[in-house]
Amino acid sequence: MEGVIKRYPVGDSEIEVLHGVSLRIEVGEFVAIIGPSGSGKTTLMNILGLMDSPTEGRFELNGRDVSRLKPDERAEARGRLFGFIFQRYNLLTTQTAVENVELPGSYIGMPAAKRRERALALLQEIGLGHRVENRPTQLSGGEQQRVAVSRALMNGGGIILADEPTGALDTVRGSELMARIHGLHRAGHTVILITHDPGIAAEAPRVIRIVDGKIISDEPSDQRKVLPSPTGGESETPVQPVLPTPEKRRRLILLADLMEALRMANHALRANLFRTFLTMLGVIIGVASVVTMLSIGEGSQQSMMRSMSRMGTNILRIEPGAKTSLSGGNLTLQDVAAISDLSHILHVVPRVWSMQMLRYRDKTYSCSVVAASPNYSEAENRLIVRGGFFTENDNARCAPVVVLGMKACLELFGSSVDPIGKYILLNNAPFMVVGVVTVRGGSGDGRDREDDVAIIPLATGEARIFRSNRLSQIGVQVDEYKNVDLVQDEIRSRLNRLRQQEDFRIFNQAAMIEATKHAQDTFRFLLGAVASVSLVVGGIGVMNIMLVNVVERTREIGVRMACGARSRDIQLQFLAEAVLVCLLGGLLGVALGAILSCVIVVGDTKPVLTLGPILLSFAAAFITGVLFGFLPARKASKLDPVVALSSE
Ligand code: ADP
Ligand code: MG
Repeated sequence: MEGVIKRYPVGDSEIEVLHGVSLRIEVGEFVAIIGPSGSGKTTLMNILGLMDSPTEGRFELNGRDVSRLKPDERAEARGRLFGFIFQRYNLLTTQTAVENVELPGSYIGMPAAKRRERALALLQEIGLGHRVENRPTQLSGGEQQRVAVSRALMNGGGIILADEPTGALDTVRGSELMARIHGLHRAGHTVILITHDPGIAAEAPRVIRIVDGKIISDEPSDQRKVLPSPTGGESETPVQPVLPTPEKRRRLILLADLMEALRMANHALRANLFRTFLTMLGVIIGVASVVTMLSIGEGSQQSMMRSMSRMGTNILRIEPGAKTSLSGGNLTLQDVAAISDLSHILHVVPRVWSMQMLRYRDKTYSCSVVAASPNYSEAENRLIVRGGFFTENDNARCAPVVVLGMKACLELFGSSVDPIGKYILLNNAPFMVVGVVTVRGGSGDGRDREDDVAIIPLATGEARIFRSNRLSQIGVQVDEYKNVDLVQDEIRSRLNRLRQQEDFRIFNQAAMIEATKHAQDTFRFLLGAVASVSLVVGGIGVMNIMLVNVVERTREIGVRMACGARSRDIQLQFLAEAVLVCLLGGLLGVALGAILSCVIVVGDTKPVLTLGPILLSFAAAFITGVLFGFLPARKASKLDPVVALSSE
C-alpha cells in the first residue's frame, strides 16, 4: 500500500487515524506490526484485510487495486484469501466448535459435507478432535483461540491476519499459539501479526513499528536466530493469494444459499428457545384466530345454507293474485297440467290449505291442513317417520286418509300412542292416520314449524273439506338451483298464454338466498379481518424481536462478515429467521386453530374447518415473516463490518 490515509468522521469533523502508510508485504512473509495502543494497528489491519477501505491512497493486492472494491467483492475476497484471528477469539457462542470452523466455508459455497470433513480434520490436527461438539463457553481460552485459528484456515487462509492473538492468553498458551503461527508461516502462509508486545514482535522475521498512524521503522528482526530455523521438509511453496474474479460471483440467491440460511436460522432460533417461542406466540395466536374465525364463518354459512335448502332453494311457488290488484284469478289443475311437462322440473305439487280443527277423542288441536298431490312428501323434503304417505290411488278415490306432521301428531296423540290406523275427526269427518312425517334435516322432535301440519290427498280435500277446485298454491321443484330462473320464465309465459293475463305470482328463494349469502360473506370477511389484526400484531412482535436480535448480535454479524459473508448473506439469514419463526408459528397456529374449530360451538353452529383458511393463514404467516423480517434483515446487512466487529 502507498500513502494510505484513513479518516473517520467524528461529529461534524473528521479525525485522521492513518497519515499516509506505505508498505509492501511479500507472499509468504511473516510480518509483525507493533505499536502502542491507539496507534492505528487495528485500523491498518482492517484495511489490509479488506474489512475497510482507505480514505485516500493506493492499496494493491497481488497486483490488483483493491482500494475501491464494492462491499460484496470485498466480502468475497475476505472469505477466500484471509483468515482473521482476534484477541478475543470472536467465536459464535451459539455454535459448536466444528460449526464455528465451518463458517467461512459456507460463504464461499463449499458443500456441507466437504465443509464438515475439512473442519473436523482441522480440529483433529490441533488436538481438539474430542471437543468438536462443544460450544465456545465450554472451552478454555487457549482452546477457543485454537478453534479460531482453525476457522482462519478453513478456506485456505492464504493471508493470516492476527490482531493481538495472544493478548488474552497466559504465557504458556501464548507461546503455544505463537508456535502454531510459526508453523503456518513455514507452511507457506503469509502472516501479519499485530501486537504491542515487543517480545512477541521480535519472533517475526520482519517488524514494522507504527506510532500515531505513521510507520516509524520497518526492519528485519535481529532475534531471528533464537527461533528454530525452518527445516527443509516443513517448508512449502507460499500460498499465492488470487483474488476471485468478479464473473465468478453468484448473482442469484441459489437454493443452496437458501438452505444454508435456513440451517443457520434454525440454529439461531434453537439457541434461544424460550424467546423464539414467545416471538412465535404472537403468530400462533394470529394464525389460530384466523383459522378459527374463518371456520366459524364457514360453519355458520353452511348451517344457514342447510336451513335454506330445507326451505327449498330449488322450489318455485305459484300463487293466485295479480301483483297490482288483490282480487285475483284462480289456479286450478288445468294450470298444473299446462306446466308439468316443462323440462328441468322434478315435481309439480298443487295444494290447498286452511286452518282446521283436528280432533282425537277428547283432544282438539288446530293446525294447517294441506290437501296436496301424493308427490308432496318428496317435493317438500318430508321424511316419513311412521307408516307411509298416501298414494295416487288414495287420491283417485278421495280416500279419507291423513298424514300428520310430527308436531300435530304429538299434540294429538302424545308420544306413547301409535297413531297409525287411528281415526281423527277433521271438519267433523273421520280420517284415518296413515303416516307421520317430519322435515328432512330438521330437528325431528316436533319443534319445526313445517311439522305443524296435517296432509290429506288433494282430491279428498277438494271434495270433503274445501269444496272447491281452487288451488292455494302450486309448488314446482326444479332439478337444480341454477335452472330456477329459466323455469320461472317458462312457467310465466305458459301460464300467460293459457290465462291471457298475469293474475298469478311466482315466488322463488333466489333473492333471499343471495341476500343471505351476501350477509354471510360480509360476516366472514369481518371475522377474518378482525383475526388478521392479531396476525399483524404478531408480525410486529416478530419485527421487534428481530430488531433487538440484530442489535444483540451485531458482533456476530461482524464476525460473519470477516469470514466472508456478503451483506445479502446476512440479510438472507435474518430474513430466514423471521420467516422460519412465522412458518413454525403458522404451523402451530393452524394446529391450535384446528383444535379450537373442533371444540368450539357458537350457538348451534359448529365451525367447519376447510383447507382454504388453513392455506390462507399459512400464506399470511409466511408473508408476515417476509414483511416484518425485511426491515431488521436489511438493517443487519447494512452494518459496516468494522463497526459491527468492534461493537460490544
Ligand atoms: P490500535 O489497534 O492500534 O489500538 P486502532 O486502530 O483501533 O488502534 O485505533 C486508532 C485510533 O483510531 C484510535 O484513537 C481510535 O479511537 C480511532 N478509531 C478507530 N476506529 C474508529 C472509528 N470507527 N471512528 C472514530 N475513531 C476511530
Ligand atoms: Mg487494536
